[in-house]
This record gives sequence, structure tokens and C-alpha cells, in this order.
Amino acid sequence: MSQKFQRIVVIGGGSAGWMSAVALATGLKERVSVEVVESEDIGILGVGEATFPSIRNFNQLIGIDEAEFLRATHGTYKLGIRFCDWLDVGSDYFHTFGHFGTLSGSQALWAQHRRMALAEPLGMQCLPTVMAMRGCFVLPGDQAEFKYAYHFDAVQYAAFLRQLAMRRGASRTQGRIVDVARRADGAVTAVLLEDGRRIDGDFFIDCSGFHALLLGRTLAEPFVDFSHWLPVDGAWACPCERRGDGITPYTTATALEGGWAWRIPLQNRTGHGHVFASRFIDVERAREQLLARLDGPAVAEPRLLRFKTGHRERFWVHNVVAIGLSAGFLEPLESTSLYLIQDGIGRLMTLLSEGRPLDDEARTDFNEGSVRRFARIRDFILLHYCLTRRRDSELWRHVASMPLPETLAFRIELWRRYGVLHEYDEDGFDASSWLAIHAGMAHWPEREDPVLTEVPRQRALAALQCRRDAIAAAVERMPEHHRMLHHVLTARPGRSR
Ligand SMILES: Cc1cc2nc3c(=O)[nH]c(=O)nc-3n(C[C@H](O)[C@H](O)[C@H](O)COP(=O)(O)OP(=O)(O)OC[C@H]3O[C@@H](n4cnc5c(N)ncnc54)[C@H](O)[C@@H]3O)c2cc1C
Repeated sequence: MSQKFQRIVVIGGGSAGWMSAVALATGLKERVSVEVVESEDIGILGVGEATFPSIRNFNQLIGIDEAEFLRATHGTYKLGIRFCDWLDVGSDYFHTFGHFGTLSGSQALWAQHRRMALAEPLGMQCLPTVMAMRGCFVLPGDQAEFKYAYHFDAVQYAAFLRQLAMRRGASRTQGRIVDVARRADGAVTAVLLEDGRRIDGDFFIDCSGFHALLLGRTLAEPFVDFSHWLPVDGAWACPCERRGDGITPYTTATALEGGWAWRIPLQNRTGHGHVFASRFIDVERAREQLLARLDGPAVAEPRLLRFKTGHRERFWVHNVVAIGLSAGFLEPLESTSLYLIQDGIGRLMTLLSEGRPLDDEARTDFNEGSVRRFARIRDFILLHYCLTRRRDSELWRHVASMPLPETLAFRIELWRRYGVLHEYDEDGFDASSWLAIHAGMAHWPEREDPVLTEVPRQRALAALQCRRDAIAAAVERMPEHHRMLHHVLTARPGRSR
């Protein structure tokens, strides 16, 4: 398909559908019409409460005011994730969105840190980690030393985006799709609804979630299964009442016998979930383990979600692009699904606005880029598992000994042998993030780079102590997260960033 098109039909009204619609209605308003078809009977998945900092760029690009967004979605600020019990039971560390400072690069820092044998975690050298540990939050200044993300109610986010997209000209059809019309060459021409209505389009964005209505069911694009690496395949989700004043400015991910549990604080409630591998733990036992962890009375019945980790072989086939869960799913350990959605939309928008022919070459570029992004994030998630010292259940014995993807094995080897944090193109996570996990999992190189050890010991020690003291002093003056949030939520319009 190399011709221009005017009618874009988005199938599905979850986060993926409305993020796509609002981006198109904002960026390509003059050139395309956007129609979203969603079924209220089927509903949306509605989990996905923790995000990655790139969500802020998305919100800014489509012109969302932060305070208005936080109010509409019961949102809170997220500095990162606290990982409990991943190395051993009782251990914990943070992965935040900030760096560790440098003597001459982060490798130098860890080398010095190791050599000084400071009796404190590397996280003390990272501003957002110390902020998270103390429960504080401020917006980063212009010299941003850290990034931040949000926790929010995913159902409210989709509703908020829907209003915005419709104000900008997108239209919405409510109804269940029961059939799909195609041309002889395979391209989709229309979707047919249960009540007989027909929605025609030139281009279709499949945001139908795990149903994968167009790319999976209609076009039968094969699924690339990652479950031999990421064996989790189910989750219990259950929100509970929020207790007390404090709202942690971070997600907590606690490793359990057959998976891990999330804790995500919103303004009005706390989201809890248990992501588990049904090969290694009984579904009912997983439910009980979740209920035992709630830190307040449940406000809904626990919901069971089933999934398979992996992605479609191609993400764009004929005139159909899949965005969101219809394209694939990596488990939610690093809150990357909305990031992948946003990334897919961004690359699609670039192609559409450049006016480049939407031919085989464009499709191949898009598909290869999508596959690489999934692989990079898969590797980063796997790193959290494979470095564990836990051997106390089948899951942990399995992940500690499973063969790794070559791309990850190579990165681990380079780090272990030479202290090099290798970066690939299109990495979702930068070297600081990789360093945070290696350090948190007490995985240090076997030798130090001889060049780095030339930094005199006293100078290195002084630099580390100076940075640690400056961070501690800065955090001392910061407000607690819930106070900062209250301030932003009650500020007059136009005052928030
Ligand atoms: C356990 C779990 C935890 C997660 N946690 C996070 C997280 O912390 N952070 C994060 O970024 N992501 C997370 N995710 C992923 C996140 O939930 C999704 O990426 C996000 O909700 C987008 O979903 P979606 O829009 O692709 O699909 P959905 O929300 O499922 O929307 C699908 C849409 O398609 C429509 N539809 C389907 N079939 C038809 C039909 N026949 N006719 C008409 N309409 C139809 C539905 O009505 C719905 O509107 C998590 C996922 C799971 C499973």
C-alpha cells in the first residue's frame, strides 16, 4: 500500500486506542479522519497503573496539563521501582530514573565505589533513589538530574484521553465487531458490527488488546512466544483502601515464591497485584498470597488476568498496524507497556507526517524496529531474574539456570569480565538503569578497568563523599511526596509544569 489514505479506523478504546486516536487527532488533524470503534460489553483491560518517564513527553506533545491529568486519573508521582527480595529474601534496592554521578563516567564511579568499599549502597549516589527512600518529591529543575513518571488509574486515563480526542475531532462508535471485510490482496476494508453497521477505512490500527482482532484473528500473524524466558502467565489484581497520609513516590515489586507482587499507590487507593507463573504456583495459592499482602481492606474482588509473553512476528501487515496488547506483551515488571505503545505511535506518526510512501520498505523498517524494542526490554526484564541468588522455589531455580538470549548473555559477559555496560541501538533503558540492576543484584565485574584505578584513592573517596553529602542535604529540604502532590493538585490552573 503506497497510496495516501484519509480514513483511519482505530479498533479498541483502551489506553492504546485512545493514545493513538488523540495523537492522530492532534498531529494529523487536517489530513485524516479518525474513528475509534470500541465495545462497552467487552470493556478494557484497565490495569497498567505504573508508567515510564516517556509518558510525560507523550502528555506534553498532546498538550495535557499535568495537574489536570493528575486530578482526572488519581495520579501520583513515580521516581522508580523498589525491588524487594529479588537477590535474596530480605534484600532490597531501587531502580530510579536518575544517574549516579561520574568521576569520569559511571563505570569509573562503580570502580571507585568498589575499591573504596563504602559501606552503603550505590543508590546513595543517586538523587531520586535517596528521594524515594525518604518518601520525598520535587519536580526536577532545568538541569534535570532525574526523570520521573506517574502512577495512575488506567481506566480514568483512557476516559480522559477519549474526551480529549473527541474534542479534537475523533469520532467514536460503540459496538462489538463480529466480522472483517478484506480485499483480494488481503488488505482490510471495513469492520462489521453485531448490529449490522459497517465501518469503512483506508488504514486500521488494531488496539483490540489481547483479542488481537485484526492482526491475530483476521490476518493470522504468528506469535513469537517468550514464555521460555519470561514464564509468568497470569496475574491477580486487587485494589485496596489507602491507609495513612504517606504515598510512596515509587512502585514496589516484591519477589514471591511463584512470581512477584506489585504495590502501586494512587491518591484514592493502593493497587496490588501478583504476577505469577502457573507452571510454578497454583492459581488459588497465588490469589491467597496476594490477599495476604494487601495493606488495607480490598475495595474490589480480585481479578484474574491471563496472558502470554511475546509479540506478533510482524506488527504491521497490509494496512493494519497493531499497537498495544494486540501487538504483544512483556510482563509489567518495569512498567513498559505504555512506553511501547507510545513508541509505536510515535514511529507511525513520523511516517505519516513525513508523507513517505507506506510501502514494503516502510513496513519492514517499522516491524524490525518494533521487534528490536521488544527484545531490548525483554533482556532488561530478564536481568532482574537471572542474577538472583534465590533457590528457594522452582521458579527461582528455573530462572537462575535458564539459557539466556544471546544479546543478554553478551551484555552480562561484558559487564562481568570487563565492567563495560554495553548499549545497543533503540535501548529502552540506558546505562544507569543497567548499572542500578547490576549493583542492586550485587553483580560486580571480576576486574576493574586499569585506567579507572589510576584515579587516586583519596580523590575518588572525596568525590563520592561529597556527592553523597550534597544529595543528602538537598533531600533534607524536600517536601514529602503527598505534600508536593497536594500542592500541585490544588494550584491554580497554569501554575503546574
Ligand atoms: C497484569 C498486567 C499488569 C499491567 N501493568 C502495567 C503497568 O503497570 N504499566 C503499563 O504500562 N502497562 C501495564 N500493563 C499493560 C497495560 O494494561 C496495557 O498495555 C494497556 O492497558 C493497553 O491495553 P490495550 O489498549 O492494548 O487493550 P485493552 O485495554 O484490553 O483494550 C482493548 C479494546 O479493544 C476493544 N475490543 C476488543 N475486541 C473487540 C470487538 N470484537 N469489538 C469491538 N471492540 C473490541 C475493547 O472493548 C477495548 O476497548 C499491564 C498488563 C497486565 C496484563
